[in-house]
Amino acid sequence: MKKVFIFLGPPGSGKGTQTSRLSDKLSIPHIDTGSLLRKNIQDNTELGIIAKSFIDKGNLVPIEVVSSVIKERLQKDDCKDGFVLDGFPRSIEQAQALEKILDEIGRFSLIEDALAVYFDVDTEALIQRLVNRRSCPKCATIYNLISNPPKIMDYCDICDEKLTQRDDDNEEVARARFVTYERETAPLYDYFKQMGILKEIDASGAITEIWEKLKEIIFEEK
Ligand code: AMP
Repeated sequence: MKKVFIFLGPPGSGKGTQTSRLSDKLSIPHIDTGSLLRKNIQDNTELGIIAKSFIDKGNLVPIEVVSSVIKERLQKDDCKDGFVLDGFPRSIEQAQALEKILDEIGRFSLIEDALAVYFDVDTEALIQRLVNRRSCPKCATIYNLISNPPKIMDYCDICDEKLTQRDDDNEEVARARFVTYERETAPLYDYFKQMGILKEIDASGAITEIWEKLKEIIFEEK
């Protein structure tokens, strides 16, 4: 079975939710550059200060910053048996940087070990998903106020914490993130297809339906 999973798709297409499920099932880490960058912002690191100005506008953070964060993460011991990447690579340049990083750290190769899964969903539906997205600051469970609401409005079902909304999940920045996605990230579809490592799923249904489709692809269960 493949060891490196790359989840590709527009913002809010449900990659994060499915990445967590796959990472639990395979006991490999879920690596999400957005969260790694937000952690740097929270900790007020030098990288975080640079990243914030780009994230606030819905633009991609410069490749040097992202590559540095991701290289450090992929070298950790828990990545030795594989990992699921969510939100990276986000451009052809980043895909090439990923190959270089894997080569430098002596772990895996894209052609042999990676599977890229493209989450196919209608963009307009996604803007609504994004502005209604909330998450638990304690356990990171993701909710959607319309399609997957918590039992008590605004509070986590698991830890009872008040849910929070990401700063960049407002309509203006969400639209900017889609423009960035189309320009920078969408070309990765053809890039990975040509490499022969791409599969796609219709990601417009419910979370459990998407998970079933994903398992079929990954474990080739019928
Ligand atoms: P996400 O949590 O994946 O939606 O990412 C939130 C924001 O973090 C994006 O809009 C970008 O500004 C930044 N970001 C996340 N991943 C990357 C990446 N691979 N390259 C550049 N910027 C990124």
